[in-house]
Amino acid sequence: MQIGDQKVVTLHYILTDSEGRLIDKSDDGSFAYLHGASNIIPGLEDALAGRSTGDEVTVAVAPEDGYGARNDAMLQQVPKSMFEDGSQIAVGSQFHAQGPNGEMLVVTVVEIEDEHVVVDGNHPLAGVDLHFSVTIVDVRDASAEEIEHGHAHGPEGHHH
Ligand code: ZN
Repeated sequence: MQIGDQKVVTLHYILTDSEGRLIDKSDDGSFAYLHGASNIIPGLEDALAGRSTGDEVTVAVAPEDGYGARNDAMLQQVPKSMFEDGSQIAVGSQFHAQGPNGEMLVVTVVEIEDEHVVVDGNHPLAGVDLHFSVTIVDVRDASAEEIEHGHAHGPEGHHH
């Protein structure tokens, strides 16, 4: 069966950056998504359309088709007093914060100074060239429920 809209695709993937460093891979062998529902980044979804079970695909995804370009306006100084326990903050710590339009963001601490910290609201993979190595394990028709929900359900049925 070929990958297209309203198909549930199970795949193995390994994601590396341009230097071949491992960024992510599918846990316990596989990952399933609903094609055509923006469950995965557009650059990968487009490259998988029309592929079939057993195909091995390598896909290079530029930031604009992945997690977007880095935006320096997403760097913000935050007073240390805003953190419950300022002494626990470390570079690399991540926090949930509210973005300019009220959306939830994950921000990463990138710098610590005496009175404030600098947090970065960019997605950790913003501006990164992504290299996927994908093996397509299974392609099946989505159920009516999956299409209604806009995502794939696991083999045991509904699990969110
Ligand atoms: Zn659901």
